[in-house]
Parts: sequence; C-alpha cells; structure tokens
Amino acid sequence: MVAGISLSLVTAQLSEAAVTPGTKCSKVGATSTSKGLKYTCVKKGSKLIWSKGVSTVKPFPVTSPTPTSTPTPIATPTPTPTPTPIATPTPTPTPTPIATPTPTPIATPTPTVAPTVSQIPERSGRKLCETKQSTSLFQETPRTSSSKNSSNVSLWAKYSLTRPNNFEQIVRSVQTDFTKSYLGIASKVPAIDFYIDPELKAEANLLTQINAVIKVVQIEYLFLERQFDKPISVVFFTDWDWLEKIHIEGGCSVVDASVRANKRLDTAAGWATSDNSALYLNFSGSKRNDLVTGTPGWLAAHEIFHLIQFNHFAQFAGRPPFSIPGWFIEGGATLMSPLVLGMDTTWLIQADNQSAQRIDTKSSLEDLSSNSGRNYSLGPIANEFLIYLVGFNKYLAIWKEMGEGKVFANAFPDATGIELKEFYAMFEEIRPTIGIPIL
Ligand SMILES: [Zn+2]
Repeated sequence: MVAGISLSLVTAQLSEAAVTPGTKCSKVGATSTSKGLKYTCVKKGSKLIWSKGVSTVKPFPVTSPTPTSTPTPIATPTPTPTPTPIATPTPTPTPTPIATPTPTPIATPTPTVAPTVSQIPERSGRKLCETKQSTSLFQETPRTSSSKNSSNVSLWAKYSLTRPNNFEQIVRSVQTDFTKSYLGIASKVPAIDFYIDPELKAEANLLTQINAVIKVVQIEYLFLERQFDKPISVVFFTDWDWLEKIHIEGGCSVVDASVRANKRLDTAAGWATSDNSALYLNFSGSKRNDLVTGTPGWLAAHEIFHLIQFNHFAQFAGRPPFSIPGWFIEGGATLMSPLVLGMDTTWLIQADNQSAQRIDTKSSLEDLSSNSGRNYSLGPIANEFLIYLVGFNKYLAIWKEMGEGKVFANAFPDATGIELKEFYAMFEEIRPTIGIPIL
C-alpha cells in the first residue's frame, strides 16, 4: 500500500475552487477538496466555518504477501472505499534461497551490513509529522506513440531484445542484475527513527524485526536512492490510540492524526505515507502474531520501496500523477521483498495462477485496474519482465522521469526506450511461455 492520490481528488481539483479556511460555510459536514487538501465545514461556537485543509494523501492500505512456513495470503484489496483484502491462500511460498548470485569479478566490497542493534535505536529528533512542502501538481498530456506498431516486424528484433524462453530465465537475470547493483555500494548506516508501541517492547522477536528493517532500508535506500537526506520513520504498533497519540505528539493536527491512525487501515499489514517518509507495520489484534511468524523484513521491504517510488514526488508533497498503473506501483513493491531478501520469485507464477481463477481472470496487464488484487501477483511478474528487458537503472529511471513532472505514459518510453504499448504487447506475447496463460 502506498500513499496515493485518489481519482476523485483529481476530479475535484479540476472542478472545485479552493475554499479559504476560517471563512463562512453553509452546511455542517460539507466538504470541499482542492489542491490535495480537504476542507470540512465545522461548527465553531455558533458559526459554521471551513476547517483547516487536511491532506487527502491517505495511506492506501494493501497487504503484502508474507512468505512464511504457513500458507501465505496474497493480499487482494477490493476496489471499495474500505479495502478488504481477501486472503487467497497460496501454496507455501517457502522462500527458496536463490543460487548464489554471481558477484562481479572486480574487488567490489560487499556492503557492510548495518551493525546489529541490541536495543531500540535512539531517534533523531525529527518530528513524525514533519511533512514536505507542497507545490503544484502535474499537468501533462500523454503523447501518442509516434511509432505505429509495425505488425510485420517483431518487437524483439525492433528493440534488439531476447525473448525469454521461461520465467526462470527472467528470475535469474533480474536477481543477478539486482545483486550486482547492490554490491559495491558505500556502507552507511541508514537513519531511521523507530517508533515502537510500548506494548510490543517485550515481544521476543522485536529486535530481530528491527534489525531486519535496518538491513532492508540499507539496501533499498542507499542502493536505490542515495540522496535521501532525512531519516525515515518506522512505526511498529499494536494499539490504535497510541498510534494516534504519537502523531499528535509528532506535530500532526488532531484531524490529521486521526486520519493517519484510522482503523479503516486495519485490513492492511502495513502501509507507507510518503509526505512524512514514514512506514507503518501493523501488529494490531491478531496481526500481533506476525511479529513472530512473519518473515523479518518482508513487509518493510515492500513499504520502503513505496517511499523510494514516491520520494520522487517530494516537491509535490509526495503526490504523484494519478496515471501510474497499479501493476507498476504495487507490483514493483511486491517484487522488492524477495529481491532484497535474496529469495526466489518463481512462486509468483503459481500465486498469480491461483489469483487469476478468482480476480480479473481475462485481464491483460494494460487493462488491469489500479485496485486489482492481481497487481500483487501479475504485477511483480510484469515488473520483473520489465527489469529483465531494460535493467534496473532504466527501470528506476521511469520513476525519476515522473519526478520531473511526466505522466507514466511519457516517462516509460523516455526512460526505457520502449513504447509502452509495445511493452504491453511483448508481455502479453510471452505470458503463455512463462506460465500465465490468458484464460
Ligand atoms: Zn504496497
């Protein structure tokens, strides 16, 4: 899950004028949304006035699959206002360590793994609710592809790409590419402010989980996005009231704190909010057990990648253009967990085959809705295929291009050199080959 911009917000931006907080309004409870801020008509004494705007950038909860020794639910968020992930039991994706990735022959230093901590690390003093400045949002029209899909010419030949013969080939290639990029980074201990719910402090596995988070942050932040200048916040919570309290203490308004500690999010194992560079690991209720049974670092690896994705939109208060497909956002984050933890990803095929029996059975990648549960199973496969085709750097460059103000449909060809339509065509072409038949 990730802090996202809702389509309704975008519509609202086009159609509504901004209201001024503190000025008169006519009906209590009425709302107005403008420029990413939602204003509510509230009663102050005997007067009705517009409230201070509240960011509509809300955590968008979706659960990430957690491979454990028990059957793993692949989270399938439903496209309702209250996302209710339906647990699809998947065959135990017991993480199979991938064959030792080939290190580069040059003496590249293995990144020093952050020292293991034996207690909860001290915080930096940065406030939890310190958010980024908002400026204007994107206004860009997707260009129409100049190249007509030349039906006679193979796209593989056109782009000088190798058509994969099976999924295994993609998996190996991407794991190697990822590991090579990761090797040789400067070792640096990532700056993380941990917020640990006091109720969880006695949990036996807490330090294991904290150390796993430090490690995945080190790999993802320092490898993928080295210019992060501020610490990120990582919140482990079990009690919603405590979650709300730390936001108020962290400088959030009362309204904002309640939005960020909204039980509506409880259907998710975790989420990230990019405007304050924070990620939240939900151990409330029965999920408390995940502290012991969840693969350490798995969920954090997913959420941290969302922060990396959305950090590109820091100048827009973390608000991306609304045109980024769900398969690219969630599929990318879902792929990151096994990659960072050095696990095999071939189980994704089986997971998606099961998912396809129930959700968006006939959908092509291009037509997959932004809320589809298959963004978490077909999505990572598509991201892996894309990385196989163009490599990690060009893959990440898509996010950078969007950070420059481009919509996805323009950023994609500019970063990868491949027309988006043609990428979709190649993916659909290889689907049967890699084991995802179009039903
Ligand atoms: Zn996510």
